Amino acid sequence: MKVLKFGGTSVAHADQINLVQAIIANEPAKKMVVVVSALGGITDLLIGAGETAASKKDSYADLSEEIEKRHIEAIKSLIPLTSQSAILSKVKAELNELDTLLEGAFLIGEMTPRLRDKIVSFGELLSSYIISEFFISKGMDAVLIDSRKLIVTDENYGKASVSFDITSARVEELISNASERIVIVPGFVAASERGNVTTLGRGGSDFTAAVIAAALEADVLEIWTDVSGMFTANPKLVKQAKAISAISYEEAMELSHFGAKVLYPPTIQPVLSKEIPILIKNTFKPNDPGTRVEKNRNGTNRTVRGISYVPDISLLTLEGPGMIGIPGISRRFFEVLSQAQISVVLITQASSEHSICIGVADEDSAVAAQLVNEAFSLEISTAKIKAVAVETGLSIIALVGDQMKNHQGLSGKMFSTLGKNNVNIRAIAQGASERNISAVIRKEDVKKALNSLHETFFEENIVQLNLFVMGVGNVGSRLLRQINQQRDFLKKNLKINIRVIGISNSRTMTFDEEGIDLDSWEENLNKGQQAKGEAFFESVKHYNLRNSIFVDNTASELVSNSYMDYLKNSIAVVTCNKIACSSDLDHYLKLKEISREYNAPFLFETNVGAGLPIIDTLKNLIASGDKVHKIQAVLSGSLNFVFNNYDTERNFSEVVKQAQEEGYTEPDPKIDLSGVDVMRKILILARESGYAIDMHEIENNSFLPGESMNTKTNEAFYASLNKHEARFKDLYDSAAKGGARLKYVAEFDSGKASVGLQQIPDGHDFFKLEGSDNIVLFYTERYPDQPLIIKGAGAGADVTASGLFADIIRIGNF
Ligand code: ADP
Ligand code: ASP
Ligand code: MG
Repeated sequence: MKVLKFGGTSVAHADQINLVQAIIANEPAKKMVVVVSALGGITDLLIGAGETAASKKDSYADLSEEIEKRHIEAIKSLIPLTSQSAILSKVKAELNELDTLLEGAFLIGEMTPRLRDKIVSFGELLSSYIISEFFISKGMDAVLIDSRKLIVTDENYGKASVSFDITSARVEELISNASERIVIVPGFVAASERGNVTTLGRGGSDFTAAVIAAALEADVLEIWTDVSGMFTANPKLVKQAKAISAISYEEAMELSHFGAKVLYPPTIQPVLSKEIPILIKNTFKPNDPGTRVEKNRNGTNRTVRGISYVPDISLLTLEGPGMIGIPGISRRFFEVLSQAQISVVLITQASSEHSICIGVADEDSAVAAQLVNEAFSLEISTAKIKAVAVETGLSIIALVGDQMKNHQGLSGKMFSTLGKNNVNIRAIAQGASERNISAVIRKEDVKKALNSLHETFFEENIVQLNLFVMGVGNVGSRLLRQINQQRDFLKKNLKINIRVIGISNSRTMTFDEEGIDLDSWEENLNKGQQAKGEAFFESVKHYNLRNSIFVDNTASELVSNSYMDYLKNSIAVVTCNKIACSSDLDHYLKLKEISREYNAPFLFETNVGAGLPIIDTLKNLIASGDKVHKIQAVLSGSLNFVFNNYDTERNFSEVVKQAQEEGYTEPDPKIDLSGVDVMRKILILARESGYAIDMHEIENNSFLPGESMNTKTNEAFYASLNKHEARFKDLYDSAAKGGARLKYVAEFDSGKASVGLQQIPDGHDFFKLEGSDNIVLFYTERYPDQPLIIKGAGAGADVTASGLFADIIRIGNF
């Protein structure tokens, strides 16, 4: 004997019901009970129609029409034409009765719990009738048995309690004696001993099936639904969630109590005592193995089996000096709530007994607070206890697993994961069975929290990075191309999954929470929404994704001014824009402090030497206790390119123009030529070496004529360079005469920094610097005479993009 239950989504429309029929037709069991839910969505429609009618809105008739339409449609596509009319007229008669009830509610303008159950019961009664007629029309040996004759309850309408003894006897009698092989039963609906219709609570069809399975001592209870089992987290919210192959009754109960809707929590109790296994299967993928819930299935090495959440929770806190050491306060607190049948989902009490904090459903919070305040009115009026504080709009997330009790450090891992992702925790509770650790968080953070916890506990170290990319010029577009090429490799070899969620230029921006297709980002960006002011930042915040990284590929001061906002929301910042790190010392230090405080990496390797690992090396030196005394460097790939290519054959301005066209300069070439860019770089290196230094303290021996410095446009700048060609020729000739070469050198020594053009003689480390190469010499305590040298291509869009990429990967390995 087998009991199978098909949920609303499995019987929503004719197509799905055909799948159900195929599953039953393939079933070899000698005898089986098939419990069905209402056609998907009908229960909600019935409740909606009842409430609309009771609030005296005649639009309830539209809802009732839709209910009628859904059933008629199902009959017309499932039942052969010849037998349709009898079935149609029976269903129409039922629907007329429903209309009469709705009309009654409309006229009286009121809905009693009893009437509500009666109205809602039509869902399962109609679906089971239609499905049984369909099965019979397919030649199956099937019969419909009305659950109002089987399941006996009290009259607690809306969530009635089953009287197991009478129910078992009836099930025994009616089902065991039925001669047909397949018995179809409507789920969710029951009746009291007096014969009043009751229901078993939302999702209660699972329970009907469990009660019948227990009464018949079935071999197995199968719950057929729209997902392939009980998952490690709700698969609708966590894409990476996986079906759990086997799980203990206790774990399944804990997960469903904490929101895994796939199993209605009371379902487990009746089958547990008889040790009947539950199998959760997918109607749409019947070959998927699904989840087996049974005794002693907790022997695996997984400590955390699943993560679930309860939405819409309020916290009520009772506190005050009058609570300390006084017995009975908790008892009175819980007594008033239990008298009002308010269920307490979570309790925490500090050992100081100074406060008690409980979680209740949002909908119960106002009544609960009022009752508690009344119960403690005397203490409140004498200021011994404060009036209850209520905080709404929260959710509970919970880690569940039988083996959690035997492992240290799980809650530490849980809270550090949440902390890293800026999820604020309002309260914490650990079940006495140690099978559950719960935290109360803001509703808006649920998706992020579930996904980051899932990553920590289930994804074997796969880290997902969510990128928001600002600026898609030379560097930005190459970065996107490199990410696109390298993504599979990173996933496979470094266990880093990179997704680009947002892209913006100065005009438009585009987003895709599942990751933007990097083959066609340009089209999407062109069609994107307007990028204005803080719109991009607001969107990044709105997505609220774990491991979010803001990537700045612009040279804009406005953009660099927004880093603080990102970091304060625990969003990492990766940038090739030097403005922030070369801004006022206070601002630079503040950014670093905020980055530490909010656990949000702030990385800018490309600020010096593009992709060369200069800053990272420096950081490692400092972190390991070394001290930098002196830095000598050629840090401008652009100026190097210019002086390596300028041999007076062509005008200086033409060489500069070529450098700009080939992407070796800042968008404004003056920034490079004036030495400002080099000043910024040596400033950043000095700061990263631990020196407190500001831009105005750096000596700049510029070779540019003052007039060129003051030009407003690139054209005017080039024209002015042309005008002063003789000066550049002089510089070149005087160096060439002594066999020297011109290099723009940055120096930092004993706390002082300077930049300027120097004649470098043959044999010097800087002499043979090719193309756009950079070189840095670090003289430190450990490298006092022979400096640590880093040398290589230090400018260009591709190497800059790969430097940014390296910073992003660093965050993945963080
Ligand atoms: P039915 O109509 O078949 O009774 P339900 O909607 O009641 O289906 O339950 C199935 C749904 O439960 C899934 O579609 C899924 O969104 C949700 N769910 C929540 N948590 C989990 C989980 N941990 N594993 C599987 N499903 C879950
Ligand atoms: N139809 C009912 C509901 O939607 C019962 C069920 O599907 O389990 O809650
Ligand atoms: Mg359900």
